Amino acid sequence: MSRFEPNLRIPGPTALPPSVREAGSRQMINHRGPEFAALLGRIGDGMKPYFGTHGDVAILTCAGTGGLEAAVVNTLSPGDRVLGISIGAFGDRFAGIAEAYGAQVERMTAEWGWAAEPNEVRERLAAGGGDYRAVLVTHNETSTGVMNPVADLAAAIRETAPDALILVDTVSSLGAVPFEMDAWGCDVVVTGSQKAWMAAPGLAMVAASDRAWAAMETATMPRYYLDLRRHRAQLAKGETPWTPAVAVAFQVDEGLRLMAEETPAGVFARHEVCAAATQAGLEALGFRLFADPNHRSKTVTAAWIPDELDWKVVNGELKRRDLVLAGGQGKLAGKVFRVGHLGMVRLEDILGAIGTIEEVLAEQGRLAQPGAGVAAAERAAIEVEGGHQAAAAVLR
Ligand SMILES: *Cc1c(COP(=O)(O)O)cnc(C)c1O
Repeated sequence: MSRFEPNLRIPGPTALPPSVREAGSRQMINHRGPEFAALLGRIGDGMKPYFGTHGDVAILTCAGTGGLEAAVVNTLSPGDRVLGISIGAFGDRFAGIAEAYGAQVERMTAEWGWAAEPNEVRERLAAGGGDYRAVLVTHNETSTGVMNPVADLAAAIRETAPDALILVDTVSSLGAVPFEMDAWGCDVVVTGSQKAWMAAPGLAMVAASDRAWAAMETATMPRYYLDLRRHRAQLAKGETPWTPAVAVAFQVDEGLRLMAEETPAGVFARHEVCAAATQAGLEALGFRLFADPNHRSKTVTAAWIPDELDWKVVNGELKRRDLVLAGGQGKLAGKVFRVGHLGMVRLEDILGAIGTIEEVLAEQGRLAQPGAGVAAAERAAIEVEGGHQAAAAVLR
């Protein structure tokens, strides 16, 4: 990132690496020609390891929400009984989509800031008789900065409601943290180009299990643009059914190339380091983090705005210094602020952000110990980095 660009620390859209920006400005190509077919193939193959699947990855031209809608309308029928596990604004949205199309949605909510508990899910499904058609799960709840234990939740669902399809929103986590769709038994998994993939908004990537593909043959919710069967049929010919966002596809392709160069393990480690640095830095500056410490997100951190802090003034000063943070969503508006640390994020971006917050707090006379935030962030980063190196040494 150049000094002349803002430090865009929101949980998507994320900043673009220079080569990704260049990729997006390429001349158009025929989207029904061999060059695009090769591109589509590279994106699908490149994404499979991040999904943890051997199945096809459909590339839809829409926002992440469109991908969630595709998960619902392709696999469910009006009247289907669905359990919507919601731990925040995006869990509510996923449940809302299923409701809009006529599913009979029962909501299971956790207090915002907490993850869903596998045991509670087990109890809830058992109490409901287990005959659910689907369970909706958010992997990373971007509104609260909480990451759900999807492997454990999926195991609990499989155990108590073996026939339920598990539909997972991984829009703000896939590509930043390990995920094993096939091994964990997830049925539809959805992500979006503007989060961890270092590309502009415009594409949603959706993978489905064999069970989910089978369910699509009998599901009766209306669908046309988002019909995944059409997407799969065209994919076999190296095409998408409708004109795709070609420029964004160029970008995702280049983003995947950069990620391969860094290696997935390197990408995941970088996200862990940046998350630890953000969280330690904010805490050292006196902020109370919103999320349960056991389930803090690796891609976004939410912190309470202290009562005595005039956030409008502080945020104005941050923006003047080219630091862009996200506010609270839904009922958290005005109560928390959020720092995104996914996609193209480096430790120096985080240290810069913490340093800027520190500077503004000092100016407002709200800092006991100047330098403590950046120092704590650096210490946390070194600790996590050290852990990774030790682990790598053991593996070697
Ligand atoms: C960003 C996000 C979405 C929605 O993505 P859009 O592209 O804005 O539709 C859905 N779920 C989660 C968890 C997200 O972070």
